[in-house]
Amino acid sequence: MLDNKSRINLIGYSRQELKAEITKLGEKDFRTKQLWHWMYHKGETDFNKMSSLGKSLRKKLDSSYVILRPKIVTEQLSKDTTHKWLFRTEDNNEIETVFIPEEDRGALCLSSQVGCTLTCSFCHTGTQKLVRNLSAAEIIGQMMVVRDAYGEWPSNGHDRKLTNIVMMGMGEPLYNFEQVAKALKIIMDEEGISISRRRITLSTSGVVPLIERCGEELGVGLAVSLHAVRDELRDILVPINKKYPIKVLLKACRKYPGSSNARRITFEYVMLNGINDSASDAKELARLLEGIPAKINLIPFNKWPGVEYECSSHHTIKQFSEILNERGLSAPIRMPRGRDIMAACGQLKSESQAIRKYSERDKLNISVTN
Ligand code: SAH
Ligand code: SF4
Repeated sequence: MLDNKSRINLIGYSRQELKAEITKLGEKDFRTKQLWHWMYHKGETDFNKMSSLGKSLRKKLDSSYVILRPKIVTEQLSKDTTHKWLFRTEDNNEIETVFIPEEDRGALCLSSQVGCTLTCSFCHTGTQKLVRNLSAAEIIGQMMVVRDAYGEWPSNGHDRKLTNIVMMGMGEPLYNFEQVAKALKIIMDEEGISISRRRITLSTSGVVPLIERCGEELGVGLAVSLHAVRDELRDILVPINKKYPIKVLLKACRKYPGSSNARRITFEYVMLNGINDSASDAKELARLLEGIPAKINLIPFNKWPGVEYECSSHHTIKQFSEILNERGLSAPIRMPRGRDIMAACGQLKSESQAIRKYSERDKLNISVTN
């Protein structure tokens, strides 16, 4: 049995990088396309089953490379079918991925970082101390596991449930632009996983300098975590606002490449009781967004242990939505999904500490019984 550690994991390799490996092995270019197809279209992880590659190449690949999936620590299924995975990375960090299936479609919420360097006051992920960027392999790996779990590779022949991707898990995707872009380009490649940019949305707290590049290079849908209409409040809720205040952020949104009435920018607005949910906040929001092809997503606040904010009442959220509707803005209320397994927006946080404590206690028990 070959040891995985001494072999190179090919997941996350771009076409150019795969081609370089194929050339190193003394093989012709067309093998790159074949290997790509096996890895990303068929989801095959065993080189020996890649029948079109020829025996000698299969052998060479198997001795130096490997196609890995991230290690699953736990998997939880909500009463409402939302599915959450906790993965452990090679360096013992943990990340979470959430899949939200619906009748004939489903959105996969991918993480871009371990934790998040930003400290939005209402977000659980922002309270996590440990932070690092995920690699393209770790971002794509999350998706591969979900496709495996739902049997979404072509050999299974039935309709796909995993139709949409949202970069709305742990982390700020525009603080890890290079790896996120690399992963999304692989996901969008028509000869591989082939999810169209129209079905991908990237959510940012407002990293203004990278918004334009995101539109130009990736062309994916943009979601902006606005959450407040005045700088004094947004400075507290979304502290990156001190660097890029509302006016500067909205200017970048106005210029977002590829946005149009058919492809609106989503403005996310978390509903916090007595903080940002008044009628005048709603009116000001409509005023601020004038001239931007926009839609608003009203997110009922999801609580997490230790947080002091409360979610606005249903009545208040409805009123807020109506004020926006009257001003020509679509503002649906997002149904919270997976709250019972802490999988809803902003609830993700690595459980590493809890798990570590648990295993230490476990060890103790073992030594006692011994
Ligand atoms: N870092 C990115 C993407 C991840 S968060 C961003 O901030 O946009 C995805 C969305 O969930 C963001 O709009 C975020 O503000 C929101 N969110 C965070 N914590 C929340 C909570 N406790 N309840 C509801 N929404 C929350
Ligand atoms: Fe980070 Fe987004 Fe949470 Fe803010 S809301 S702390 S940017 S993950």
